[in-house]
Amino acid sequence: MPETKKRIVLVTGGAGFIGSHLAEKLLEKGEEVFVIDDLSTGSLENIKHLQDNQNFHFTKGSVLDEKLVSETISKIDEIYHLAAAVGVKTVMEKPLDSLLNNLLGAEIIFKIAVRQRTPVLLASTSEVYGKNGNIPFQEDSDRIYGSAYHARWGYGMSKGVDEFLALAYFKEKNLPVIIARLFNVVGPRQSGSYGMVVPRFIKQALNNEPVEVYGDGEQTRAFGYVGSVVNALIELVGNQEKSYGQIFNVGSDEKISIKDLAQKIIDLTKSRSKIKFIPYTQVYGENFEDMRDRQPDLSKIKKAINYQPIPLIESLQKTIEYFRSH
Ligand code: UDP
Repeated sequence: MPETKKRIVLVTGGAGFIGSHLAEKLLEKGEEVFVIDDLSTGSLENIKHLQDNQNFHFTKGSVLDEKLVSETISKIDEIYHLAAAVGVKTVMEKPLDSLLNNLLGAEIIFKIAVRQRTPVLLASTSEVYGKNGNIPFQEDSDRIYGSAYHARWGYGMSKGVDEFLALAYFKEKNLPVIIARLFNVVGPRQSGSYGMVVPRFIKQALNNEPVEVYGDGEQTRAFGYVGSVVNALIELVGNQEKSYGQIFNVGSDEKISIKDLAQKIIDLTKSRSKIKFIPYTQVYGENFEDMRDRQPDLSKIKKAINYQPIPLIESLQKTIEYFRSH
């Protein structure tokens, strides 16, 4: 077997939930990993098991710090740009930070990466489809957003602009870019503090507290396991030219209503919790619109790489196991 050279990789947002799993997997593959994270929503706790690895280098800093990004990227072979605002709750509460991080962060990464044509994987989001209810979403499906009075849509729109930027850098500046639209990723180390439903339900169920379903609970989502998702990102980058300039949905296509999800988690944890329905207005105020249904079409990624997301039940079991022991 020919020996493959160790890659030097930058993961922005590498102390976050998904970023820390990605960094861990890259280290397991023998790569050298640099992480830039401002710890606004990520945490040192997420990466403490990596700190002793001599191939792991963490810098607390922002992707808006051009000097830091420039110095780091000069020695890097591949970039995974994950640093971004996390969760609907963050976007509703701090729209300005969220927008600026998403828009300026991506622009700085692309602008500096183009100097040496360093490949960039942009972590985008299923939020870019907005309230297009026509599931499953294909990569070229329409994006439909609500009004600017609803802060929520700012997240999807800003990530949507990042995607345009990425494709423009690809077309006009020859920057190798890959866009991965992540759909409701779940797993160990995900925090419930930013509104994410699965860790919240699991904690409530394990504590035998009411499991709080927002709205009527008939809205649907498809939850992808973080382990499968980060493997897919690494494979997409490994595919090089075949991935460049392309958009891929990444996640699971097994959809479930939020009410059924609550019941499933109550059953799996053998909890005494009851489901409690809470109006959206009570949680997010008046100016909130939810997405009714969201499910990816995964045909494109399945053609591109060997990708088989694990069943929802397994994702939930693994995540519950983690929360039980932490
Ligand atoms: N949700 C809920 N209870 C919670 C948190 C979220 O019922 O404690 C709902 C939320 O309104 C949405 C779905 O669960 O319909 C998924 O929410 P999440 O914030 O995890 O992801 P989203 O798909 O909204 O980005």
